[in-house]
Amino acid sequence: MNDQPSDNARQPARFSSSRRDMLASAAAMALAVSAAGAAGAEPAAVSRKTANGRLPKIALEEHVMFPDFVSYLGETRQNISPRLFERVVPILSDFGDRRLDTMDANGVDFAVLSIAGPGVQVERDTATATRLARSANDRLAEQIRKRPHRYGGFAHLALQDPRGAADELERCVKELGFQGALINGETNGSFLDERRYDVFWERVAALKTVVYIHPGNPPVMAAAYADHPELWGPTWSWAAETCTHALRLIFSGTFDRYPDARIILGHMGETLPIQPWRLDSRYAISNQRYKILRKPSDYVRENVFITTSGVCSDAALRCALDEMGPAQVMFSIDYPFEDSKIAADWIENAKLSDQERVAVASGNASTLLRLKAAKA
Ligand code: MN
Repeated sequence: MNDQPSDNARQPARFSSSRRDMLASAAAMALAVSAAGAAGAEPAAVSRKTANGRLPKIALEEHVMFPDFVSYLGETRQNISPRLFERVVPILSDFGDRRLDTMDANGVDFAVLSIAGPGVQVERDTATATRLARSANDRLAEQIRKRPHRYGGFAHLALQDPRGAADELERCVKELGFQGALINGETNGSFLDERRYDVFWERVAALKTVVYIHPGNPPVMAAAYADHPELWGPTWSWAAETCTHALRLIFSGTFDRYPDARIILGHMGETLPIQPWRLDSRYAISNQRYKILRKPSDYVRENVFITTSGVCSDAALRCALDEMGPAQVMFSIDYPFEDSKIAADWIENAKLSDQERVAVASGNASTLLRLKAAKA
């Protein structure tokens, strides 16, 4: 499915005659045509469906869990209800029937998997963070190898060591066939615009890969959230924190130094799609520490991609496509924290042209992540 060797011929023989693989082969064929359609080569591709009649989809914010990362995930107990936390851990840990059944039922051909946060982003010991991240990437690769036409991966990185993280990213992309990395917000209070991360962004650009900036909690809760636990987490603080992370990268000139570096934001861009006009207007009269070479909106439209994870709103999607551009917006779910059926039903019926729908559902992700169709 991706640039690495990953065709059905590599599948263990015991899977080859299953109904699921027949469905997947049909889905992969549909996806191949969809991606071509989004590139403008074959617009008629919009009529192609998965074997069960769904619009073929690629999803990019789909989470997993390994036993030794559950204690880090415990950090998010402060943000979500205990009921949701207890429910998701076993679902996150499944790479087989339950996950694939949900993908099949909703037309998700391909899911790029990532560890549910914050992972080693909150580990204080650099050696431990580095060892665990590498081990997690190896274990994720093992799962992907079992079903390379259904799963991809975003690397988990110990950014406590910027050069080490760059090396691990390169290993994950080149040797394990991953599609990029996913970072859960700050690493012990550090944002990725610090100059010591230049070594990391240089590698991201050289590999022409992507970094998904996923929400995470900062080490200290801002006073703004005192007495408002409902705002501390996915309702609001994660959007503010993650959008700020992207803006810091833009305004510190990271994308001037590394124009080929690209990031992905989830949750319909964490409010960024409504900001470009004001960013340009008010940057001109702001107190500036760094000089950037272009208008802020130029970076929003060229270096930032977004996914629809957890925001099933036609109006928000229209705004994102119009403000950021038709190639910048990609479908995702945020499994298992969000409902796959709600997300899939929504994108299939959203007020979009057929060409836009295919681009958002699979074509844009296929192009950005350089996915190739599996040999059906
Ligand atoms: Mn998520």
